[in-house]
Amino acid sequence: MTDCIFCKIIAGEIPSAKVFEDDLIFVFNDINPKAAVHLLVIPKQHIARLDHLDQSHQELIAHMFLKLPELAQSQSLKTGFRTIINTGPGGGQEVDHLHIHLLGGKNLPGFH
Ligand code: C5P
Repeated sequence: MTDCIFCKIIAGEIPSAKVFEDDLIFVFNDINPKAAVHLLVIPKQHIARLDHLDQSHQELIAHMFLKLPELAQSQSLKTGFRTIINTGPGGGQEVDHLHIHLLGGKNLPGFH
């Protein structure tokens, strides 16, 4: 999708602070961090939102989730971390390219 800001980040058309990249995913520092560590984990394939996933994405989703603890470890988040996926306007999603927020760096308040 050519007018997707995250697709442009993956393509290098918009600069980002890249943390990790492989064939399936791209990981970078959120430009407006909400915690000491705030990464965004995104699929290279343009998928707009969580509820657009289907059975064909199983391998990709497993890969994204299994990468999270490894990323947290690489950021020295020894005591834990928080993951958030906003879905649609009702869920506060602002960028229509699926992304997992990974936050941490100090003890975060409970979220209930
Ligand atoms: O879940 P939501 O769609 O609200 O989050 C989008 C996130 O993308 C925001 O945290 C925002 O700071 C981040 N962002 C970014 N780089 C951009 C545009 C948005 O890190 N160029």
